[in-house]
Amino acid sequence: MPNTSLRGWGRTAPTRANVVPVRSAADVTAALAAAGPRGVIARGLGRSYGDPAQNAGGTVLDMTGLDRIHSVDADSGRVVVDAGVSLDALMRAALPFGLWLPVLPGTRQVTVGGAIGADIHGKAHHVVGSFGNHVESLDLVTADGRAHTLTPSDDLFWATVGGMGLTGVVVRAVLVLHHVETAYFKVDTEQIDNLDELMARQSVDDEKYAETVSWFDAVSTGAQFGRGLLMRANHATLDELPPKLRARPLRFDAPQLLTVPDVFPPGLLNRLTGKLFSEVWYRKSPTKLGAIQNITQFLHPLDIVGEWNRGYGPRGFLQYQFVVPLERGDVVRGVLDRMHAAGQVSALNVLKRFGEGNRAPLSFPRPGWTLCVDIPVNDGLGPLCDELDELVLDAGGRHYLAKESRTTPEAIRRGYPRLDEWRKVRDAADPTGVFTSDMSRRLELTS
Ligand SMILES: Cc1cc2nc3c(=O)[nH]c(=O)nc-3n(C[C@H](O)[C@H](O)[C@H](O)COP(=O)(O)OP(=O)(O)OC[C@H]3O[C@@H](n4cnc5c(N)ncnc54)[C@H](O)[C@@H]3O)c2cc1C
Repeated sequence: MPNTSLRGWGRTAPTRANVVPVRSAADVTAALAAAGPRGVIARGLGRSYGDPAQNAGGTVLDMTGLDRIHSVDADSGRVVVDAGVSLDALMRAALPFGLWLPVLPGTRQVTVGGAIGADIHGKAHHVVGSFGNHVESLDLVTADGRAHTLTPSDDLFWATVGGMGLTGVVVRAVLVLHHVETAYFKVDTEQIDNLDELMARQSVDDEKYAETVSWFDAVSTGAQFGRGLLMRANHATLDELPPKLRARPLRFDAPQLLTVPDVFPPGLLNRLTGKLFSEVWYRKSPTKLGAIQNITQFLHPLDIVGEWNRGYGPRGFLQYQFVVPLERGDVVRGVLDRMHAAGQVSALNVLKRFGEGNRAPLSFPRPGWTLCVDIPVNDGLGPLCDELDELVLDAGGRHYLAKESRTTPEAIRRGYPRLDEWRKVRDAADPTGVFTSDMSRRLELTS
């Protein structure tokens, strides 16, 4: 599909590229041989918010046709999958064997290749780490068109994990899944009055829960500022399920109710609608311990509504996600205060505590607080975000490349002190710079 317009989930900054559908490793090799001077980048389901899976004037490989699940081994938990398989499809295939993907992001509509490229994390990061920790091996087609099987003993493996597609194209991976008795969660929800209490409460008992996250209201002011829901869960055992669910405990119970039409004007999400949403969301879940919830209810409430990003209208939105060390939790408050002062609202505010990071030089998670806020694109957003960047970077924090759409090369250099180490491995695998993207040029990730 020559000259196709592509954009990320945030719907900003579209660019045009020659989109090449991929169904085999040989297709990748052929596309690399035919690539022009603007280079090549792989694209999964385009769920990154910004521009890492775009390549203006160059080639973009559409990996979603490379989507075979080759094998599932119920005993070892090992699955062999093509890179274009979505996590949704993989869960549907693995759950009947009692296998669970240990790392699931806020949506299942991402591919295995995209999950490796961004080294994604989920609500279980404090227990299981990020996606790369569960990859036993991966097959990477490098710039010379050759395929290599890489394992965690290879530096190129760790440069590819979190490497945003810039080391080569992942075509296949062996993942190790976890065993579960049921597809349900036993959830403790606590309704908490304000942000300080929420963060204090979230700092204890983490080790008792496999999954933890909190959502809070940053629109309401005064005593209600930061009131929120702390949601923590473990996988439910068979005995814990109510009788009506026990007949099919491994059912993939993940309803999607509707898809949002692309008709919304800019400015629909404003302080008023944000306040309304925050009120409803806060009230919907009073404190309740031990509730049995399905995948959508606990993990993916946003997946109930398809293409919900259309609600932000044609101008789109950005998600600002950062991590700061645990001892700098004050930055969470500082960022929200600055947003308030600038008159920007975010109704979807998600807070987590990361556990240990892994060996990948560009992997985002590190021990600390990570906050996501969604902000509609509007006037004054750029200067505000520059101010927020300073707060984050001065505290020793960094931004998540999968959500990033507007920061500077300098901010990324400060946040990722191992960038040069990553570049060395990448440059050895791709000495002429075949792999490139709008993001890599914008943030000067590659030399
Ligand atoms: C609603 C929503 C919630 C989200 N929640 C989370 C979350 O909780 N945690 C989290 O970590 N992320 C989250 N994300 C971000 C998402 O997990 C990542 O952006 C992920 O990379 C998207 O996968 P994708 O297949 O759509 O990849 P794309 O967005 O298409 O690509 C992402 C990157 O991976 C590279 N890539 C894709 N396929 C390959 C391949 N085969 N070989 C090499 N490189 C490849 C691309 O070049 C690009 O750099 C969320 C996104 C959305 C929309």
